[in-house]
Amino acid sequence: MGKQTVLPSGRVQPRFAGICTFLRVPRLSDVTPANSPVDWAIYGVPFDGGVTFRPGARFGPRAVRDASQYIKPYSIELGVNVAERWSVADAGDAPVLPYSCKETMESVVRFARGLGDVQTRLLAIGGDHSIAYANMRAVWEKRGKKALAVVHFDAHMDTVDSVWGEKWGHASPFIRAIEEGIVDPKAMISIGIRGTLNTAADLDFAKQHGVTIVTMDEWRRNGAATLAAFVARTKGRETYLTFDVDAVDPAFAPGTGTPVAGGFTSAEALAAVRSLRGTNLVGADIVEVLPDRDVSEITAMLAAQLMLDVMAV
Ligand code: MN
Ligand code: MN
Repeated sequence: MGKQTVLPSGRVQPRFAGICTFLRVPRLSDVTPANSPVDWAIYGVPFDGGVTFRPGARFGPRAVRDASQYIKPYSIELGVNVAERWSVADAGDAPVLPYSCKETMESVVRFARGLGDVQTRLLAIGGDHSIAYANMRAVWEKRGKKALAVVHFDAHMDTVDSVWGEKWGHASPFIRAIEEGIVDPKAMISIGIRGTLNTAADLDFAKQHGVTIVTMDEWRRNGAATLAAFVARTKGRETYLTFDVDAVDPAFAPGTGTPVAGGFTSAEALAAVRSLRGTNLVGADIVEVLPDRDVSEITAMLAAQLMLDVMAV
């Protein structure tokens, strides 16, 4: 464990003042060697070149950082003060190449694997879901290339081989990660899946490779128990959490690019993430926040709260 995180007091420097980092944590470049290595490095990936529908998630990192200013480090439900438990720093944004998914992935992997040391956990703010591939790959490379367990919240499986010939877009991060051995599909659970597909064959890859799929209806019936059983089965394993905000119902998360009716409420999503308490999380991402479609920062606020809870579990 590294040292704690020094946050400016909201009573001295108001939360609406100052340069905006996530949760007002220090910039990674300002963390002195005495404080290093950081336990969590947060970084943005302002990239939405991989979307299949509405663009705009490139503005997600700024919106989530802005919405995080009023988030405080102590989680009431988990009884954990993230700033006392972890050393956290904001590394700014990864370099992206807006016209190329593949080159952006390579650039983000190079940037992310160089953050902190091998133990530093990586928390990426998207960006569209394509960036999950890059963050997972960076985590996997840092930690000696052992296949990761994955908890995946999403309305979609994101295991489509390619769309319009693009193999690195936001419909494909998990097929690529499974193909490359970054993710162990038998230790992957996808939760919140719902709505419609072009064809049922879109589910075949995940099913054939042993991914546990929890549709939204199944979540309502027995999902928490299924997730608890998954957590017990993968206990101690290095686990990656990927959270696509479209797992949440558009009534609670309107600011996203490929919304699907019938998802989690905000409270249910937060409770589901908190139920991962004790999981050996080594990396995470929150993706698909699209501020132009957001209303009163509902979606960005939820994403910021989810990020705090990810570090608290
Ligand atoms: Mn997704
Ligand atoms: Mn999705």
